[in-house]
Amino acid sequence: MYPTLAVLVCQHIAVEGAHICYAIRSQPIREEDSGWQFLCSHRSAECSPVRIWAVEEIVRYDPDVLKIIDSPAGTSFFKTTTSTGSAFQKI
Ligand SMILES: [Zn+2]
Repeated sequence: MYPTLAVLVCQHIAVEGAHICYAIRSQPIREEDSGWQFLCSHRSAECSPVRIWAVEEIVRYDPDVLKIIDSPAGTSFFKTTTSTGSAFQKI
């Protein structure tokens, strides 16, 4: 995954530092777009306006993203956090 491609990040994550709960990859519309969207647990209209980050920024924010970033368009993940750690699970 090219590190400067764009990802969409919900404002709760971008502004309030919320945990990533949903990672959804759609077919990118533009060349500079990765197609990824990262949302918090609300996953609602309140998550707009989304912010545009680079792939490298979301990976810095949550290094677990690196494990799923090369997944194809049409893939979605839910991130669970337990006392033993956190992981993305395909949905
Ligand atoms: Zn949100």
